Amino acid sequence: MAKRKRSTSFAGVGALVQGIGLLVLATFCLWWGWVGFAIGAPIALVLFLKGSAMSISWRCGACGNPIHDKHVRMCAVCKEPIE
Ligand SMILES: [Zn+2]
Repeated sequence: MAKRKRSTSFAGVGALVQGIGLLVLATFCLWWGWVGFAIGAPIALVLFLKGSAMSISWRCGACGNPIHDKHVRMCAVCKEPIE
């Protein structure tokens, strides 16, 4: 039984999505001031949460192979069942 290891990467797509969220918010503020902030904030929040979810990746505790998502029950490389 191998443990699933959580690893975070800051240089991945997740960080890019978060960056886009902030950029959208900044652009909206620049164009429409407070109204833009009110419109942009929820969008930025969604992108930010999505980005942080994407920046979390899982690895097999036995061999370190990246696991596609956290619902995978068996490692594809070492065939170890994953908790
Ligand atoms: Zn493995």
